[in-house]
Amino acid sequence: MRTLSILGSTGSIGTQALECVARYPDSLGISALACGSRTVRLAEQIRKFKPQIVSVRGPEEAKRLKSLIGDIKNPPEIVHGPEGLIKAATWPGTTSVLNALVGAAGLSPTLAALRANLEVLLANKESLVMAGSIIQKLLKDGHGSLVPVDSEHSAIFQCIGGDISRLKEVSRLILTASGGPFREMEINEFDSITVKQALLHPTWKMGPKITIDSATLVNKGLEIIEAHYLFGIAPEKIDVLIHPASIVHSFVEFHDGSMLAQMSYPTMQIPIQYALLGGERRPANVSPLDLAREGRLEFSEPDSEKFPALDLARRALKLGGTATCVLNAANEEAVRLFLEGKINFPSITSLIESALDHHDVMETTETAIINADLWARNHVFKNVSEILQFNPDTK
Ligand code: NDP
Ligand code: MG
Repeated sequence: MRTLSILGSTGSIGTQALECVARYPDSLGISALACGSRTVRLAEQIRKFKPQIVSVRGPEEAKRLKSLIGDIKNPPEIVHGPEGLIKAATWPGTTSVLNALVGAAGLSPTLAALRANLEVLLANKESLVMAGSIIQKLLKDGHGSLVPVDSEHSAIFQCIGGDISRLKEVSRLILTASGGPFREMEINEFDSITVKQALLHPTWKMGPKITIDSATLVNKGLEIIEAHYLFGIAPEKIDVLIHPASIVHSFVEFHDGSMLAQMSYPTMQIPIQYALLGGERRPANVSPLDLAREGRLEFSEPDSEKFPALDLARRALKLGGTATCVLNAANEEAVRLFLEGKINFPSITSLIESALDHHDVMETTETAIINADLWARNHVFKNVSEILQFNPDTK
């Protein structure tokens, strides 16, 4: 029996994880739930899954939630803010933490859960992008364990049978990418991409931040970094292939020249359930793949001129230290500005590039990460006025 703390329970991954918990109550229970502001949804989840503690973004949300669950007999303790997330992650009795928070907010709970020797089921790739070497050291020193939830990394994990000792047999990882909604658009049209267009992902339904990351291919850049720290494979041995149908979720190439892939129609139900059930294969409410109907599967090289994000991620990995943290923070702020209609689509990657150009790389420590994250966000803000002048049509 796994007792779960689900962080980000109101989001795309969090709600799908709770569907799995509801499907297998004999194997999965809930100790804690945490979210940001969607308190109505959280109140429904509290009634159904009866956590002992819940955390929300701040005191206002906590007040709102309290009034929404005023009639419950044994209500959960309500906490808030970054400390609340850590308290929920490490609540006594918890065996596994599903970190499905979006962005940098996910890092401290990942570190806290590992330090408490818990199993972390990681959807929040930003944790590894910001602090991969710190997490690697915690794991090496025997603190907790990490199971990927991101579909590509779960695919790789599944191809090695969930046994990381088999990574020594691996010669190359090939991450697949749908290519996003602008795969076939001409580069000279990128300036006029609207928020609405960018939020329409062709194969996956996800939260807004990762949907924009998928459109810029920054998501795949983050995933190269994630794969590097998760599997200890050198960046030059991690390739990306564009595969528009999102049926092959990634490939593992072995030293003997053979290659394994994990396949299914695009759904997060499989990687989420694989992580939650510790690799046990049970029905997941997913239609089996009909390959005869698909007919063919297509793969191609990514276009690095149209999508500079992959090169930026490789550059950040080469720079080392705090550079990947800077890439992540600059991206988070740039995505926010794009979603607010303040910058155009190509500016997202230009802002990341500018942050990498100007950052003085520091060795990765927790303090250096906090400083680099803040520095990158400020750098983006300072540069936005310049970009707006550069693109007078940008609203
Ligand atoms: P969503 O935006 O759908 O959900 C994010 C969750 O985090 C929500 O529950 C939100 O709460 C909560 N949250 C955000 N900020 C805070 C905060 N400061 N404090 C507390 N809670 C917070 O994101 P996704 O589910 O799409 O993605 C989650 C993570 O999983 C990301 O790292 C993403 O890259 C990764 N991932 C997602 C995939 C997908 O299919 N969605 C696939 C692979 C990886 P609220 O909404 O209540 O404010
Ligand atoms: Mg992914």
